[in-house]
Amino acid sequence: MAVSHLFRNFALSISNIKERTVEKLLDERQFDEFLSLVDGAQRILIVAHVNPDGDALGSSLALKHWLTRRGKEAVVVVPNQFPDFLQWMPGAQEVRVYMKHEEDVRPVVDAADLVIVADLNQSQRLRELEEAVLANPAPRIMIDHHLNPDSSFCQLIVSHPEMCATAEVLCHLLWQLGEAEQLTKEEATCLYAGMMCDTGAFTYASGRAVIYECISMLLARGIDKDRIYRKVYYTASPSRLKLQGYMLYVKMKVDKERHVSIMSLTREERKLFKVKNGDTEGLVNIPLQIHKMRLSILLTEDTEQPGLVKVSLRSVDNFPCNRMAEEFFDGGGHLNASGGRLAGTMEEALQAVERAITAYEPLLR
Ligand code: 5GP
Ligand code: MN
Repeated sequence: MAVSHLFRNFALSISNIKERTVEKLLDERQFDEFLSLVDGAQRILIVAHVNPDGDALGSSLALKHWLTRRGKEAVVVVPNQFPDFLQWMPGAQEVRVYMKHEEDVRPVVDAADLVIVADLNQSQRLRELEEAVLANPAPRIMIDHHLNPDSSFCQLIVSHPEMCATAEVLCHLLWQLGEAEQLTKEEATCLYAGMMCDTGAFTYASGRAVIYECISMLLARGIDKDRIYRKVYYTASPSRLKLQGYMLYVKMKVDKERHVSIMSLTREERKLFKVKNGDTEGLVNIPLQIHKMRLSILLTEDTEQPGLVKVSLRSVDNFPCNRMAEEFFDGGGHLNASGGRLAGTMEEALQAVERAITAYEPLLR
């Protein structure tokens, strides 16, 4: 009797733990709406933001695999090419790149009867793909974790800025859909990669315990997390490492008083080092390894749009990259990782950066 009582209490406490950690993402109305939109559609288009990163691609591909398993025709379309170090992701070969094959991809966009926008909070972040997506009258669902979602272009918004990645949002969503034990290894791999990429392999924005509940769920589906790490971070080409060496040795300007570092990469330098898509990924994070550094800024001349300089910002602690990006660089993003752009020459961009740093000096010192 006592033993069975104990066992019952134990079982109860386990189910309590489960209830406490599983986050119900959608309320009943949203849950029904989500399922009826998905089940009412046949050709589902998944789109993600320009310059797709590991989370954009990982969450889009996980969705594609899940929808395919649910009997849908699902296709992922991204505005421009994603970096080579994401090519290994299950399904990456079938991702369609709008700017590369606009004529072939446009009919695919037009034919969709449901659009899911993943890892994206504003339609402008679709860049060249925006017009085509907005021209399609099909309903749209947003699944995202960026701040300030624009609610005007999606019928259903699943936005969770407190979460580390869109892939985490999807973990909770799939959990709520009762899929935790049905996820395929491919789906789980894409979800893990998405979370890993948006948290610097769980070194920032990753302190919520429930993230590790999600990871536990994914490990149980057979993912090889160490292999995923190597696939993403240990695939550099010799030219990528040489570029890093050059940028750190020659180009990095460290302001020790104001705890900020600035690097710039011109089009000529890109050519010199044969810089390929993705070769600059992670570069902006490196100066944050310097003792007491609070902010790192990387300027790169845009290859696709001459006369445009891309700005990348990374910070530690509470320095608000997103505020600086909004105020000075026509951009936005997260507290510790943001981006934007400047029209003009590199010289002018460097001057704008100086003005931004001066304005934020009190928060840097
Ligand atoms: P990255 O420096 O890797 O290009 O961008 C870092 C993060 O900043 C992205 O994940 C995204 O959230 C944000 N971001 C980059 N560029 C822009 C932009 O032009 N507008 C907005 N709103 N966010 C951006
Ligand atoms: Mn993301």
